[in-house]
Amino acid sequence: MVERLAVIGIGLIGSSIARAARARGIAADVVLGDASEAVVRRAADLGLGSRVGTDLAGIVRDADLVIVCVPVGACGAVAELIGPALKPTAIVSDVGSVKGSIVRQMLPHLPDAGRFVPAHPVAGTEHSGPDAGFVELFDNRWCILTPTPDSAPDAVETLRDFWTRVGANVETMTPEHHDLVLAITSHVPHLIAYNIVGTAADLEEVTQSEVIKFSAGGFRDFTRIAASDPTMWRDIFLNNKDAVIEVLGRFSEDLAALQRAIRWGDGDALFDLFTRTRAIRRSIIDVGQDTSAADFGRRALNAATQTGG
Ligand code: NAP
Repeated sequence: MVERLAVIGIGLIGSSIARAARARGIAADVVLGDASEAVVRRAADLGLGSRVGTDLAGIVRDADLVIVCVPVGACGAVAELIGPALKPTAIVSDVGSVKGSIVRQMLPHLPDAGRFVPAHPVAGTEHSGPDAGFVELFDNRWCILTPTPDSAPDAVETLRDFWTRVGANVETMTPEHHDLVLAITSHVPHLIAYNIVGTAADLEEVTQSEVIKFSAGGFRDFTRIAASDPTMWRDIFLNNKDAVIEVLGRFSEDLAALQRAIRWGDGDALFDLFTRTRAIRRSIIDVGQDTSAADFGRRALNAATQTGG
């Protein structure tokens, strides 16, 4: 369906797209570029595409679809490098976790605003690099397309078709709305995880070894999120400032209300909230976005693993 797909940035997301495009016959040819010599060598060893290199302009030259998969803060620089080398008909997209900032960074460097369709596959793991990717990463996950007012309808349709064949469900919204939705569903939860893990690491009266030994009490689940790539997440917070600050304001108010409920022994308030949150967990399982297996399915892997309050 796509003659030549070029993937720029061969990490978890880029290498998963390349793997899926090849395994599922979505692109006749896949070529890949990355700034890092070591990453390029590894991608070549893994056989991720027919051509792999650090000359990004050379890599995109004959491509029909170019997907930029580098950290959010590097997207403008990549667009500047590849812009002049693009075929006039080439569709350009990206996978960045923030959309408004990416549009502002990339659009000025692209030859045709009509061929630019930003996107964000809402799927990932805490691992990075070309080895971390896998074919099924996007299966039954959402990919959000955030066309600009200039994006041509046929380019949007081609990208929708591409992501559907990769295995994702596709939704469309404006870049600004995307950034607000992701602030609450992803960015602020990551900030909370980074914060609680940092707080635990700094507590002097609890030793590091105790934190690790008793982590199954809940802390361990935050550490998975807090192990996410530092470059990627630094860039997300620097590029989605307004929405994150707005949602954090709400979060702080709600946290203060919980603190008050605990201080005044208001068990009803706590019970009501915990009942509502449990229902949200159930609805995530109902729509197939997580497993209902105890301990996220880990008990099957390790019978000794326990959770508790
Ligand atoms: P990753 O595994 O760290 O891969 C990023 C790759 O881009 C690395 O190989 C990196 O090389 C390379 N790179 C960095 N700057 C570059 C530049 N200027 N030119 C060319 N290559 C460059 O990251 P990822 O997890 O795949 O994330 C990539 C993008 O996907 C980010 O925009 C992120 O917001 C988005 N995303 C991530 C997830 C997730 O859960 N991971 C989910 C959805 C969307 P070096 O390692 O040498 O710097």
